[in-house]
Amino acid sequence: ARRPTQRHAVRKEADVTDTENQASRRVIVTGGTRGIGRACAEHFARAGDRVLVCSRTASEAAAVAAELRRFGGTVEGVAADLADPEVGNKVVGRCVDLFGGIDALINNAGIFESTSLVDVTAEDWDSTMHTNLRGPALTSAAAARVMRTAGSGRIVNIASINGLAPEANFAAYNASKAGLISLTRTSAIELADAGIRVNCIAPGLIRTPMAEPWITGLSDDVVARWAPMRRFGLPEEIATVVDFLISDASAYMTGETLTVDGGTLARQ
Ligand code: NDP
Repeated sequence: ARRPTQRHAVRKEADVTDTENQASRRVIVTGGTRGIGRACAEHFARAGDRVLVCSRTASEAAAVAAELRRFGGTVEGVAADLADPEVGNKVVGRCVDLFGGIDALINNAGIFESTSLVDVTAEDWDSTMHTNLRGPALTSAAAARVMRTAGSGRIVNIASINGLAPEANFAAYNASKAGLISLTRTSAIELADAGIRVNCIAPGLIRTPMAEPWITGLSDDVVARWAPMRRFGLPEEIATVVDFLISDASAYMTGETLTVDGGTLARQ
């Protein structure tokens, strides 16, 4: 048999290490029971990662975790409400208890409510802000404290194109997502020294339970006016970009927001 050259031997060793690193990622996905979060959790489960999915509903988090385990990896569920001021410690604490640390946090969960500025109430405003902005901030803080000790970590925030180009009648949602984009940049600056990269995705319309009522029954013409690619996105098409942002393929990126919208904002 031919002896492998030194170069081949080195490359092979690196491949094994990469595979092992890939398999050992400990990832939290908030809102991992439906839509984009579930697609992310499934993507990581298929890669053999250790995944903690969180949602407000304990039974759903447990059921989805059990379903996702059949794709491989280790998947657990935890019930936590992003509007709860203790959410960060609860979710990150559970991840550390289960997996001994955290490599990546995907701040995905969010709520989408139509509220025009003139009709907005303090209650509407607070519920959107607490879930879409304060929750991710507190969860990032708790995760960063653990990641800082380990000397590395990745955080990905799921914002929206509404945070970049606001639409009428979504005052609180637009502001919460613009805030999340800003939080991404602040976190990136503060945490770069600790080896923690923080990036953001601004999806366009993606086929999920949240978006379905808004997109069902739209004519092809309306869809084409909305997205030059003439279709809405699939949750998996966000999951692959999340994977890119937590992988070493994006090693020199931090503080960035990537638009994934089939060309919707390209026209602006
Ligand atoms: P879905 O409504 O389909 O799923 C939302 C997930 O988040 C569910 O698992 C839900 O579980 C969980 N969740 C909701 N509220 C909370 C909360 N307070 N605490 C913890 N978990 C919660 O949403 P999508 O997958 O469509 O959206 C995911 C993210 O992507 C959101 O941040 C959204 O704003 C963003 N986005 C989506 C777009 C789209 O077109 N779909 C476009 C742009 C951005 P449960 O209800 O059981 O708690």
